Amino acid sequence: MNDLTFESFGLATPILGALKATGFIKPTPIQAGAIPHGLAGRDVLGIAQTGTGKTAAFALPMLNAMATEKLHNRRFSTRALVLAPTRELAVQIEQEIRKFGAGLGLRTVLVVGGVGRFGQVQRMARGADIVVGCPGRVVDLMNTRELIIDQCQFFVLDEADRMLDLGFMPDIRKVVAALPQRRQSALFSATMPAEIAKLANGLLREPVRVEIAAVASTPARIEQSVYFAESAEKRTLLVNLLQQPDFAKTIVFTRTKRGADRVAAMLNAARIPAAAMHGNLSQGQRQRALEAFKSGEVRALVATDLAARGIDVSGVSHVINFELPNEPESYVHRIGRTARNGADGMAVAFCDATELAYLNQIEKLTGVRLRVAGGERPRQALPPRKPQRHPDMQVRKIKPRRPPYQEKRKVA
Ligand code: AMP
Repeated sequence: MNDLTFESFGLATPILGALKATGFIKPTPIQAGAIPHGLAGRDVLGIAQTGTGKTAAFALPMLNAMATEKLHNRRFSTRALVLAPTRELAVQIEQEIRKFGAGLGLRTVLVVGGVGRFGQVQRMARGADIVVGCPGRVVDLMNTRELIIDQCQFFVLDEADRMLDLGFMPDIRKVVAALPQRRQSALFSATMPAEIAKLANGLLREPVRVEIAAVASTPARIEQSVYFAESAEKRTLLVNLLQQPDFAKTIVFTRTKRGADRVAAMLNAARIPAAAMHGNLSQGQRQRALEAFKSGEVRALVATDLAARGIDVSGVSHVINFELPNEPESYVHRIGRTARNGADGMAVAFCDATELAYLNQIEKLTGVRLRVAGGERPRQALPPRKPQRHPDMQVRKIKPRRPPYQEKRKVA
């Protein structure tokens, strides 16, 4: 346990006031580890997942520097750039930064795809203190000189491993190449594959490494159970559970986007207000689904892994794995949506005979044997139904190419 307080970091008074208003009393371990170094101007390599408080860990030193050193913003230019892999995460980061910096009179601009670029360009025209964005749209605006980062003093790369998974590395290299040499940088990642370690090496100067909790550990406060059920029984089981009043705010995970749509429609037909959340929806639709879930207008959010990543909604009572993921780490990420900020939570898994191998992998990884809440563990695992593609990956059928047309030579 650390006895640090936010006051002991020597943060500017308006920031301390904003933290108090937000209800932050004690720094989390990643904050305790990273903030003093960030304030001292050091680069930080943070190995931590969403939910650990990493946003404040990188945002507070940046805001503190801006509170004491007010600069004139040049048109289209920004003093800080934060890159996140998904729009939802970018939206959340920008909201948090605005909260912490409420008394500082700073300009933040969100630069993400899926929504019109016109409004973003208009905001950039007045110059920004902090831009929070996703790599695709950021590079897009950089290419047209509607986002200029050559005066950027702070650069943050969040969820770097996810960026790698999503194929953002070429865009990130472009951004890094356009940054000035003199800057302070931070890189956060839940895992450290070789490519990220290499990127960190090139990006950070003598960084302080702050590492928090292993990926595989599931919070002890989450009560985990499993229902063994045939695939055809899962829907009835889901409706029965969600009709219980304690399933007040539940995230239901499916493997595919279409599956998410189908389950959400089925729940609505059963008079359980639900919304789907996946990568095929527009940014507006996703945001509306998230807001409806946050406000309690819908009780269930039916999501795929990628769409749910980084989403931080407080008070999630249950996470239901309608279908188990084929990667055991995804299970850990999924159930981490509940029991946040010290609250208790429940994780319920549905498992049919074709998913038994996945369940075994999950139990091996986490070291937790799930309590059986219903049904019986199948004696024999059936092979998975078909090889699994990443649920949010667009799959295009490629037509076999015809051999090039060859003109028949006239034989004389
Ligand atoms: P993050 O990992 O930055 O997405 O933060 C996860 C959640 O923890 C968010 O809801 C934050 O608002 C919250 N949080 C972060 N730091 C603290 C803190 N020191 N005290 C209480 N809540 C916090």
